[in-house]
Amino acid sequence: MTNRTFTMIKPDATEKGYTGGILKMINDAGFRIVAMKMTQLSTEKAGQFYEVHKERPFYGELVSFMSRGPITAAILEKENAVEDFRKLIGATNPAQAEAGTIRKLYAASIGENAVHGSDSDENAAIEGDFFFSRLEQF
Ligand code: GDP
Repeated sequence: MTNRTFTMIKPDATEKGYTGGILKMINDAGFRIVAMKMTQLSTEKAGQFYEVHKERPFYGELVSFMSRGPITAAILEKENAVEDFRKLIGATNPAQAEAGTIRKLYAASIGENAVHGSDSDENAAIEGDFFFSRLEQF
């Protein structure tokens, strides 16, 4: 079954010029980009996107990090997209990420970890719709 996941290349990776390298890894792993844009989240939008984490101690830090500079948001299509993409990005904390994963290669810390990947099909659809209208999803 072909399905979809949602990703963001986060501000840390954008600042360091890793966008092209990360997109190449995504393409090489067999994901088809079906929507993509470079944009910057306001603190309000970042807070909304990460609302599920609002009780966590790092919420304020996460919102200010995610709104401090441009990101690249994209919807990706592949068989088993959500699970395969979580494997490709690696553990939340890059110190625990496996060799060859995006976070192992490009992430600096548990907070500034280069990329986002949806954790379920349901959240992938919600997150994709947060950034893209139906006309922008191919
Ligand atoms: P993910 O699904 O692997 O992205 O991880 P989570 O859903 O647990 O957390 C969402 C995001 O919050 C992570 O990708 C990090 O950017 C950030 N985050 C998670 N844990 C921490 C933490 O302990 N400290 C800080 N500063 N940020 C964190």
